[in-house]
Amino acid sequence: MTARLLTNIGRFFTPRDRSIRSVEDAAIAWDGDTIDWAGPASELPAGLADRDTIDCEGRAVVPGFVDSHTHLVFGGDRSAEFARRLGGESYESLADGGGGIQATVAATRAAPTEELARAALARVSRMATAGTTTVEIKTGYGLDVEHEAKMLDVIDAVDADAPVDIVPTLLAAHAFPRGVDRVEYVRFLVDELVPALADRVAFCDVFCDPAAFSVEESARVLEVAAKKDLGLRVHADQLSHGGGAALAASLGAASADHLDHAAEADLDALRRSGTVAVLVPGASLSSRLPFVDAAAVWQTGVEVAIATDCNPGTSYLETMPFVIALAVLEMGMSPDQALWAATRGGARSLRLDDRGAIEVGARADLVVLEGDHHVDLSYRPDGNHVRHVIAGGVPLPG
Ligand SMILES: [Zn+2]
Repeated sequence: MTARLLTNIGRFFTPRDRSIRSVEDAAIAWDGDTIDWAGPASELPAGLADRDTIDCEGRAVVPGFVDSHTHLVFGGDRSAEFARRLGGESYESLADGGGGIQATVAATRAAPTEELARAALARVSRMATAGTTTVEIKTGYGLDVEHEAKMLDVIDAVDADAPVDIVPTLLAAHAFPRGVDRVEYVRFLVDELVPALADRVAFCDVFCDPAAFSVEESARVLEVAAKKDLGLRVHADQLSHGGGAALAASLGAASADHLDHAAEADLDALRRSGTVAVLVPGASLSSRLPFVDAAAVWQTGVEVAIATDCNPGTSYLETMPFVIALAVLEMGMSPDQALWAATRGGARSLRLDDRGAIEVGARADLVVLEGDHHVDLSYRPDGNHVRHVIAGGVPLPG
């Protein structure tokens, strides 16, 4: 690890409180993986000027993106199912016919660990090239101890080889495995699976919905996870107003995700409990469903994150710049709000207070954009916006 310097930055943009602050004609310095100076270049201390330098040639710099909701370890793909959905079949009827999450469970169980790891690492590498420097990855396509542990082996392998920071989440309460009684599966999660795998993950997540795990079933799983000192996340109020957000708030969860059908009282409860609202516009896009009104969510005062929800069924997205564009163009966020949600908001939802901002003491996760303003990310939604990525102080090749 060396000490380095970004010079000739046209402007850097960083979250501060609930807004974005910009600093013009700037420089950013770091030592190892930590920023040790950031500000106007005219004030750069003389002792830092001789570090290894990357000349930004007037470009804009933003914090590395934090993708706080992904299911990027999976076998197979569901393009045929996607085509049938476009032809008018409902997700529910496809799921009843063995499609949906169950199709990915079968393909993921069948795939060798090395094959899953190779595919997942390729996905994470593409994410990093597009500016993502922290990625949360969920299990949830194993649904028994053996195969959930296999997914964690894959996540560990990706973590060892990927240039970015990986945060593992246990989502064994994603669906009920075929042929297993639901009462028995919840008992198994509570008594066996969560205790067996808790020390390998940072978070426990539950798909809380009338079509998946009930509020009561979700609460039992999350309560045992909390006893194991895991942070909590909830897939909440996605398909209907099922009580997931209220549950997340009552348990002090780190995040409540999706929230398509959350009511204002739910958002208010999330704000009071310090639970971050993680919005995933790719799921609305790919399912051709209405987008969440993110501007209204922001207005309630709750902290907002945006994420790819990368998964093979309902949101096969990898890049955060595209999610930012969707947040602005389809969910009504301002470009500043979307940048905040893609950086600080994601970090807050993962309880990682050392990143998501350009400030002394933060992780040196930085993205040098091609242009001179972050508004390009939504103004030119199909653009190739990233010039350089620095992840944990290390400039990525390319
Ligand atoms: Zn999800």
